[in-house]
Amino acid sequence: MSVSIKSANEIACMRQAGHLLEQVHDYLATLIAPGISTWELDREGEKLIRSMGCVPNFLNYNGFPASFCICINDEVVHGIPAKGRILKEGDLVKLDAGLIYKGYHSDAARTYAVGKVSDEAMKLMQVTKQSFFEGIKFAKAGGHLHDISNAISDYVESFGFGVVRDLVGHGIGTHLHEDPQVPNFRQKRRGVRLVPGMTLAIEPMINMGRADVLWLDDDWTVVTMDGSLSAHYENTIVITDGEPEILTLSE
Ligand code: MG
Repeated sequence: MSVSIKSANEIACMRQAGHLLEQVHDYLATLIAPGISTWELDREGEKLIRSMGCVPNFLNYNGFPASFCICINDEVVHGIPAKGRILKEGDLVKLDAGLIYKGYHSDAARTYAVGKVSDEAMKLMQVTKQSFFEGIKFAKAGGHLHDISNAISDYVESFGFGVVRDLVGHGIGTHLHEDPQVPNFRQKRRGVRLVPGMTLAIEPMINMGRADVLWLDDDWTVVTMDGSLSAHYENTIVITDGEPEILTLSE
């Protein structure tokens, strides 16, 4: 698959897909509290997505059994919501979600503290979120894709955190995952040249400890190998003639 460049009409659809997904995240953020299960968050989120006339794009993706990927603490990505997974004070919870609007996909992830978490956990969340913004400083036409990767990586590593290497961001559009892959770690090559109309899901996954991860027996849930906390932050963006536009986050 080559990198697809979206037309103005396609970007308009993706903008709406992103805007609706932001509303879903904003709603779920209000529900994050000790006592709620990841299954309930998934139910509430899916209900809202369908009430918008949209479809959750994670559901049944390669057989994924839920609409949201919800991870707690040392889980990095692709956690399966379950009635028995109850949020408790001090947890770090990660909600990754996407939807399809008129055939176009959006994808975004957020990390939340459940009640009070350690200062170190707060730092991990802040650095992970900021690394996305450090990366998109280079998401400009004429630049190269891996300038984004290098900026994320350099920023995160300056804090001593581990940048997950086994999972990467991606192009997005009429498919959830399109070319190119968007690594969050330093690259030797510059990668493809960025041009207006490229749409990318940029998603640093950052571990407090080492970068290594492993897959649980459910074949989905990715966890840190050393058991350390992990954080995730993602938005869908479009490359423009000027500053990148973040489709899943309004100013
Ligand atoms: Mg993604």
